[in-house]
Amino acid sequence: MTDQARVVVVGGGVGGCSILYWLARLGWEDVVLVERAQLTSGSTFHSAGLVGQLRSSLSLTKMMMNSVELYRGLQQEVELETGWREVGSLRLASSQEHMEELQRQAAWAETFGLPLHLVSAEEAQKLFPPMSVEGVLGAAFLTTDGYLDPSQLTLALAKGARQRGATILTETRVTGIEVRNGRVRAVETDKGRVECEVVVDAGGIYAHEIGRLARVHVPVVPMAHQYVITKPSGLQRDMPTLRDPSLLVYFRGESGGLVAGGYERNPAPFGLDGVPPDFNNRLLSPDWDRFAPLFEAATTRVPGLAEAEIVQLVNGPEAFTPDGEFILGPSEVDGFWVAAGFCAHGIAGSGGMGRLMAEWIIEGHPGLDTWEMDSRRFGPQYRSRAYALERTTEVYATYYDVKYPGHERQSGRPLRLPPAHQRLVGLGASFGEKGGWERVNWFESNVASGDPALRPAGWAGQLWSPAVGAEHKACRETAALFDETSFSKLEVVGPGAALFLEHMCANRVSRPPGTVAYTQLCNPAGGVECDLTVTRLSEDRFRIVTGTAFGNHDLAWLRAHLPADGSVRLEDVTSRHACFALWGPRSRTILQALTQTDLSNEKFPYMTAREISVGPVPCLALRVTFVGELGWELYCPSEFGVRLWDALMAKGKGEGLSPGGYKAIESLRLEKGYRVWGSDVTSADTPFEAGLGFAVRMDKEVPFIGREALLAARTPTRRLACLVLDEARTVVLGSEPVRVDGRAVGRVTSGGYGYTVCRSIAYAYLPSSELEPGRRVEVGIFGRFVGAEVVPEPLFDPTNSRVRS
Ligand SMILES: Cc1cc2nc3c(=O)[nH]c(=O)nc-3n(C[C@H](O)[C@H](O)[C@H](O)COP(=O)(O)OP(=O)(O)OC[C@H]3O[C@@H](n4cnc5c(N)ncnc54)[C@H](O)[C@@H]3O)c2cc1C
Repeated sequence: MTDQARVVVVGGGVGGCSILYWLARLGWEDVVLVERAQLTSGSTFHSAGLVGQLRSSLSLTKMMMNSVELYRGLQQEVELETGWREVGSLRLASSQEHMEELQRQAAWAETFGLPLHLVSAEEAQKLFPPMSVEGVLGAAFLTTDGYLDPSQLTLALAKGARQRGATILTETRVTGIEVRNGRVRAVETDKGRVECEVVVDAGGIYAHEIGRLARVHVPVVPMAHQYVITKPSGLQRDMPTLRDPSLLVYFRGESGGLVAGGYERNPAPFGLDGVPPDFNNRLLSPDWDRFAPLFEAATTRVPGLAEAEIVQLVNGPEAFTPDGEFILGPSEVDGFWVAAGFCAHGIAGSGGMGRLMAEWIIEGHPGLDTWEMDSRRFGPQYRSRAYALERTTEVYATYYDVKYPGHERQSGRPLRLPPAHQRLVGLGASFGEKGGWERVNWFESNVASGDPALRPAGWAGQLWSPAVGAEHKACRETAALFDETSFSKLEVVGPGAALFLEHMCANRVSRPPGTVAYTQLCNPAGGVECDLTVTRLSEDRFRIVTGTAFGNHDLAWLRAHLPADGSVRLEDVTSRHACFALWGPRSRTILQALTQTDLSNEKFPYMTAREISVGPVPCLALRVTFVGELGWELYCPSEFGVRLWDALMAKGKGEGLSPGGYKAIESLRLEKGYRVWGSDVTSADTPFEAGLGFAVRMDKEVPFIGREALLAARTPTRRLACLVLDEARTVVLGSEPVRVDGRAVGRVTSGGYGYTVCRSIAYAYLPSSELEPGRRVEVGIFGRFVGAEVVPEPLFDPTNSRVRS
């Protein structure tokens, strides 16, 4: 038994073994894996083994592509059979909406560099002869997908890790994790204690329990997942794998027979009150009643299945998550990392995931943008098992469904309500949800003022309302009031706060009290980790405002860098303050009528903050904008929220004030070229690439994180560019390919229709050689390439005259 190691990985499934393999491969030999039973005795041994690569985002897909790259060569490298079969995969469309989805995915694949081709139903059948073509409109064929033997893969990874000096301890159960002063010190096992710097929780469905040992909440929810295996019946051996999302089923060949599984509409959670401590090398009892609808669907697509002899109905638990993505990365306890919740993609993902985790642990940042998978994305509501279960059930049951852009999840709502909620309901708010908050997308009461003829074509017009254009116009022409209470608000307090923030932020934030700074927080590679505003409230107090969904993430990033001397405190004050944004040319007139504070440009300039009274309501007013108009964000203690909303609405009545929602903000910000973190700018993009160099102060007295890397990256080879499409009604959804002379040169980050400029706008990273205004490009939208042009940005008010008026 080892008593000391640099890293202890807990869990000997495919996830843990891949992390161990990569840590060793990248040069860390002093690494140990601890498994309570035998390797591959958790979810891994009963996996169906399909490896598909195409996911909805670049980084997720890249991770899967890295898996395939590893799986191709692993067998040879470690001299152990993995069963890798690069047979390709077929995804069928048997409804019009799924056909459109395939066209969209084909476009993504082009930008991700995946060899995916659309084929006819008959071509698909040639590749997968037992399928029926009935109702099939077409298929996508991805040639480099495949399948393998999950247990063999795990053993091969373990062998590769051992060959490089890693240690594997089986039959060793982790019983405790020692945390002192917020940092991991050791792992307790039933065979003794192992001192270590880093613990990785790769416990699969037990990740929640292992996390609890370190007081870290890991919201995985085990779900039972089933597939049948048939007796060999002479089927072709190397058929591609097959998915039919309309029928909710998937298939692969198995020694001349078939494996067929799927995602039921009535999923079955497992072990919610704790997974039995001896649940290893075990399956659940076959549940034919639950599987029957899937089996029927499977026989519709593969009629021969009805006659096939079923060898086994495999029913095994797998770790799912409330949003269907992996849970990866560090936690609020220093040195405690999580790699779990693989949502039935753990075999496909592990090769790339292990590499990403190892790079992250060794180098301090992952090689890819990990926002969607980041362990810090879940809010405190996910500590409720019931809430996490509700969400996970919805995600599982709708896994294969087409989700139109703007699709909103319904389970567990409403949860977090802003104080003016009833007023918003009264105005016919159409609500969306983010971070548990109910947020207005648009108001039905504004529909009549909008123009239905502006509905975007196709998918972009599915979840849309004429009210969006009406609210946009009101904001540009008179004024609009937006409830932004859900914004995440953090406070950084203490004698060391100014110095700490100067070290974290690329912009200068240690300015006189009452000043607002817009800034990025970079990682050591110069990528943008956070994008937010910092307001100095007093000498030793700063207020950070960041996106609704980013609060936990940004808080964690700041917390991870806090000085050890206790001179800085961090606090999430989101729930304490309501926030309303009053923006538009009439906003000063409206607000001035409610306050004695002089709101003139001289007395209350752009990017400053003041404590003011609005009627009887005490507010912190920030003169900032995310729409490119004159205006203020007003923060008041939550209990004053309704009164503030009422006062502003009443005073604005005669000035043409309209309530507005987030869809209008999106269109307004696009015209003004304001970036959104997570899509336009990510941890893999530098501020210079994102066109945010104006907010970077290289000459600050206090060097900030990422400065060294940015010094070398001042002249980027690619940049975020603004495009306008030739067709105004054709609107991008994100991740569309951009071509120049038929060559793929970039992909769209975000876009939409600008109701003032009357153009369809798209942002995309393009090589420096293609950035010149007037450059003609083409954007691939649902299989069609639409002409577009690179234009100078921003499209609206480039001199900032309205913002500073
Ligand atoms: C029926 C089914 C079909 C699937 N099909 C596919 C597929 O086709 N393609 C795909 O990509 N994925 C598929 N999956 C998902 C895939 O199998 C999983 O994502 C993957 O195996 C998870 O690996 P893991 O290492 O995270 O977890 P596990 O394999 O469960 O490993 C976790 C390990 O942690 C150990 N452990 C727990 N507690 C402790 C402790 N206290 N101390 C020490 N060790 C501990 C356990 O013993 C276990 O061995 C499927 C899953 C199921 C259930």
